[in-house]
Amino acid sequence: MVMTLSYDSPGQTNCHRSRCIALPETDCLIQSLVPLTSLTSFRVGGPAEWYVAPKGLEQMQETLTWANTEGLPITLLGAGSNLLISDQGLPGLVIATRNLRHAQFDLESGLLTAGAGTSLPRLAWKAARLGWRGLEWAVGIPGTIGGAVVMNAGAHKSSTADILVNTHVLSRTGDLELLTPKDLGYRYRTSILQGSHRFVTQATFQLEPGHDPQKVLADTTAHFNQRRNSQPYHLPSCGSVFRNPGSKTAGWLIEQTGLKGYTIGQAQVAERHANFILNCGGATAYDIFLLIRHIQEQVERRWSFLLEPEVKIMGEFQGC
Ligand SMILES: Cc1cc2nc3c(=O)[nH]c(=O)nc-3n(C[C@H](O)[C@H](O)[C@H](O)COP(=O)(O)OP(=O)(O)OC[C@H]3O[C@@H](n4cnc5c(N)ncnc54)[C@H](O)[C@@H]3O)c2cc1C
Repeated sequence: MVMTLSYDSPGQTNCHRSRCIALPETDCLIQSLVPLTSLTSFRVGGPAEWYVAPKGLEQMQETLTWANTEGLPITLLGAGSNLLISDQGLPGLVIATRNLRHAQFDLESGLLTAGAGTSLPRLAWKAARLGWRGLEWAVGIPGTIGGAVVMNAGAHKSSTADILVNTHVLSRTGDLELLTPKDLGYRYRTSILQGSHRFVTQATFQLEPGHDPQKVLADTTAHFNQRRNSQPYHLPSCGSVFRNPGSKTAGWLIEQTGLKGYTIGQAQVAERHANFILNCGGATAYDIFLLIRHIQEQVERRWSFLLEPEVKIMGEFQGC
């Protein structure tokens, strides 16, 4: 039996009644009309039609069963650091991995196993403090383990694919599979999991224990500082908006097109790094979307080359 409760949702106008569904035999609550703005690094976007943050595999499976019964589309949400969500929000069920957090460092094998919602930069600092090498590059990437596995997140010439041993992935019907990097079709910032109906629940990485923690911490801090000095971390963004197309970086192409500082509404091409778009305060998702399109048009006009967004654009946008 599914219990439905109704109440006025905080932050919603009073014409929107939010509902809450309790799944049987779990303390898993599925809520309607949950604002997503504060759950993305761009700090924009409308509400999820339905939202849930399961606390384990069983709750995740229960949730999938419910969504399948209701015939709802599903969106996985990690730290929301690579997403542009429409001002109209997202239809269907948003499953947040924020409660799927755990990490286990096995000193003998050097294997690190972590839940999908575990913070990647926190793990990088923890590994460094323990004197484990292999995650120093990840310290400036503000995502989760799940997001990193799906996006093949990377920096400083290293990437998730280099250290991943295997990952547990749930199908839409709730079946669990163990996949290796070979199964994931890894390429630059992409994997076959993107746009698929398969959800990462945890991943195992091969690291190198036994190093001097002071040295690993020094390298990790150097990566951290280099990023803080070269990229604008002071305002909301999604990091690099476009994939690097090859020999020239997307940032270089945008800068050479004269777009640094170009602004639509409150969305601006960063002065410090042209592949970043900043929310300067009160930008809408649509401002950012229009700026992405403008950059693509201008760069294509000048270089006959269409930049491909790295950021995942979700929900409805006029003219999309
Ligand atoms: C300031 C800043 C700097 C950045 N620098 C870098 C960088 O150097 N290198 C880099 O690679 N990225 C960078 N990024 C982008 C972003 O942090 C990465 O893409 C990160 O891996 C996204 O993880 P996430 O948890 O935030 O995923 P989200 O943004 O929440 O989701 C990204 C995609 O993965 C899917 N997804 C998330 N979790 C799961 C899951 N468990 N199972 C299945 N699908 C899932 C989502 O549905 C979505 O399609 C940066 C972002 C910011 C804001």
